[in-house]
Amino acid sequence: MKGLAVIFTVAIDGPAAAGKGTIGRAVAARFGFAHLDTGLLYRAVGAKGGDPVAAAVGLVPADLERGDLRSLEAGQAASRVAVIPQVRAALVEFQRRFARSEGGAVLDGRDIGTVICPEAEVKLYVTASAEVRAHRRWLEVGGDAGRVLAEVKERDARDMGRSDAPLRAAEDAVVIDTSEMSVDEAVARAISLVAERMEGAR
Ligand code: C5P
Repeated sequence: MKGLAVIFTVAIDGPAAAGKGTIGRAVAARFGFAHLDTGLLYRAVGAKGGDPVAAAVGLVPADLERGDLRSLEAGQAASRVAVIPQVRAALVEFQRRFARSEGGAVLDGRDIGTVICPEAEVKLYVTASAEVRAHRRWLEVGGDAGRVLAEVKERDARDMGRSDAPLRAAEDAVVIDTSEMSVDEAVARAISLVAERMEGAR
C-alpha cells in the first residue's frame, strides 16, 4: 500500500446469524482495522421507539450502548425500521465515512458491498442455511427453537424482499457458506482473502 494513509474497506454482508460479526471482529483484530457492526445502528433506531426517522436522524453513540439491543425482539424491530428509506438515508453518511476512514475498516451488515461501499477492496457474502443459523441463534438466546427458526426466516424474507437496499450479494463478492465450516475455518478463509487483496494493493 502507498504511503501511510491506508484506506482499505472490508465489506461483509449476509443474513442474520451467518457469522458476519465473528468474522468481522477477527479480521479487524488481525489487521488492526476499525470494526462497525452496522446492524447495531438499526437495532438502536428500532429500540428507541417513537418516529423511526426522527430516531435515526437523532441517533447518538450512547444509543448503541443499550443492553437490550441483541434480543430477538430488537432484531425484529430493526428489520422493520430498516425498510424505511429515510431511516436508511439518515445512516448512510456515518457508515460511508467510517468505511473510508484512514487505517482500514471492516463493516458488517446487509448492504455494505452493494450500497454503502461498492468500492470496498474486499467484499464477502457470509451465509449459511436457515436451520444452521437458527440453531446458532438458539444457542445464544435459548427459548423455543421453532420460534427462533421462524424469526430467522421472517427476518430473511423482510431483508431480502424490501425495495430499498435489499440483502443480496454484490456481483464481485466472495461467498463464504459457513453451514459446514467451523468458526476457525471461516475466519481463516476471510483473513487469507483480505491478506491476498492487501498484497495486490501494495
Ligand atoms: O445484523 P443484525 O442482525 O444486527 O441486523 C438487524 C437488522 O438490521 C437486520 O435484520 C436488517 O433488517 C437491518 N440491517 C440493515 N442493513 C444493515 C445492517 C442491518 O438493513 N447494513
